[in-house]
This record gives sequence, C-alpha cells and structure tokens, in this order.
Amino acid sequence: MSGFASQEYEGIVTCDKDPTNVLRQRTRPIMMDEWDSTHATVQRLLDIRENVLRGGAGLAAPQIGINHPIFIYTPDRTTESLRIVINPSFEPIGDRTIEGYEACFSEPLRCAKLKRWEKIKVIYQTKDGEVVEDVLDGFAAKVFQHEMDHLNGILTIDHKDAEVLSFTNAQSFQDHMQQIHEEDSKRYPRRLKV
Ligand SMILES: [Zn+2]
Repeated sequence: MSGFASQEYEGIVTCDKDPTNVLRQRTRPIMMDEWDSTHATVQRLLDIRENVLRGGAGLAAPQIGINHPIFIYTPDRTTESLRIVINPSFEPIGDRTIEGYEACFSEPLRCAKLKRWEKIKVIYQTKDGEVVEDVLDGFAAKVFQHEMDHLNGILTIDHKDAEVLSFTNAQSFQDHMQQIHEEDSKRYPRRLKV
C-alpha cells in the first residue's frame, strides 16, 4: 500500500519495510574518482521530493535505498532554497540544545521529540565537489542534523531520549504535523517567513 492513507510513498524506504537494512547502515565517504556516481543519486532525490513527496524539508540517499553520504535539504521549506550536500560533517557551536518534534518520510505515522544542537558548524561538498563551510542555526541546523543521522544509520526513533508519538491514521498525523509546522514557524521566525 502507498499514498496518503498509510503515509508511505513510492520509492521511499521505511523502517517498517527495509529488507536490506539500508536505513541502519553508516555510509562511507565518496572519493573524487567515484564522483560521477553522485549525479544520478542527486537527481533521484530531487525527482522524488518534487514528484512523489511534493515537498519536505530534507531527504537523504539511504531513504531511497542508496547507501551514499548525500542529502538534499532546504532551510526554509521552499524548493528554491534547496541545497545539495555530499560528504558532510558537523560539530556543535556552544552547548545549547533545542527540543522539538521531527517527522520523517521513512517513519510513517510517527513523530519524535528530541534534542538537537542549536547552532552547528558544517562542512560538505557541493555537487561539483567544491568544499563549503557554513554556520547553521534554528530550523536549518535541526534539519541538517536529522539528515546527518540518516547518513549514520540512525532514525529519530533510535534516539534513546526521544519521545515517540505514533498515530493510527493519516488524518491525526497530518493534524499533528500542522502543529509542528506552526511551532517551528514561531520558534524560527527569521527562517520561516513563507
Ligand atoms: Zn528522515
């Protein structure tokens, strides 16, 4: 079954159906001599976000069954702001954390409340292999850390201190998601003016 009723989507691996265990595997860095392999993965991530999911803050390669350290994310939920991230790593700046709910296309009908670093320094490569360093905070920092977890084989429900909510149907899940978006908009007003 796929689609709205079950919150499962064509081409997305979920924790309920992951025969190769790709969601729980750590990815290894991509070397420059194998860089060509990244193009198809990036295109597939963009296509699935656009045509199947019709949006979303982020999507990582393991979620489409590819064990590569690649993800796409947007700091303000818009398609225009999408960034392509390859071989990323990050470290926290300061020791402040912020707690909030997170949903994930690979964890249907669930949502987890967990802590993330409030501000992080990130380093990654673009699709052309250029190295980018950036400082992220607020919503962007939260999404980046969520997607980094995917590259390390970790789901939100795997976090020891996560408070996991499960929903029995798509409507109650959607209602809760709406609340999360509103909370995020208040918490991160600078980033979410959409
Ligand atoms: Zn996710």
